[in-house]
Amino acid sequence: MEYRPHCSRCGAEHRLDLPQSVNAVASPELKEKVRSGELFTWTCPHCGTANLLTFPFLYHDPSEHLMLVLSETPLKADGVPEGYVGRQVRSVGELVEKIKIFDAGLDDLTLELCKFVTCQELKKDVPLKFVGTDGADGEMTFTYPEKGQMELVAVGFNVYEDCAGILRRNPRIRASVQGLAVIDQAWLGQYFR
Ligand SMILES: [Zn+2]
Repeated sequence: MEYRPHCSRCGAEHRLDLPQSVNAVASPELKEKVRSGELFTWTCPHCGTANLLTFPFLYHDPSEHLMLVLSETPLKADGVPEGYVGRQVRSVGELVEKIKIFDAGLDDLTLELCKFVTCQELKKDVPLKFVGTDGADGEMTFTYPEKGQMELVAVGFNVYEDCAGILRRNPRIRASVQGLAVIDQAWLGQYFR
């Protein structure tokens, strides 16, 4: 698909030919470009500014039975194959985070609850982003912006297990997730506040 974005700094038009989807198993190189965000960034040939271009994109990983659809506007919730996890994400940052969560073998519903619990522990209302897990004990790392810097917070895997337990004891929460669901803190706010 051809796009003609304008540079955020100098306004020059640029022409980009970009894929609309990736099969993560068939195209591991393209998957890495999506996971790193590189696919969505372009450097202006006139002034050298790095720009972010958000465009409709389908991320399909048949090995994880996962479909992520990047769209800034609401989507109809059909078209997710049986047995698949389908998610809509609204930004490149959310897309990258979801890929990291599912690549780590984690469940994103549980992870959103971990973020909620961690914010309460920190006594801060900050947008936590999952970065990865570390070591044999699976400690999770999140980032959040504070005073113009990115802060890191490490959370023990016991928190994930506790949150998974809470969701198991409240099965209606998971049962309510259908189609291409948006799973984020706003979604979680229906159940926990
Ligand atoms: Zn420029």
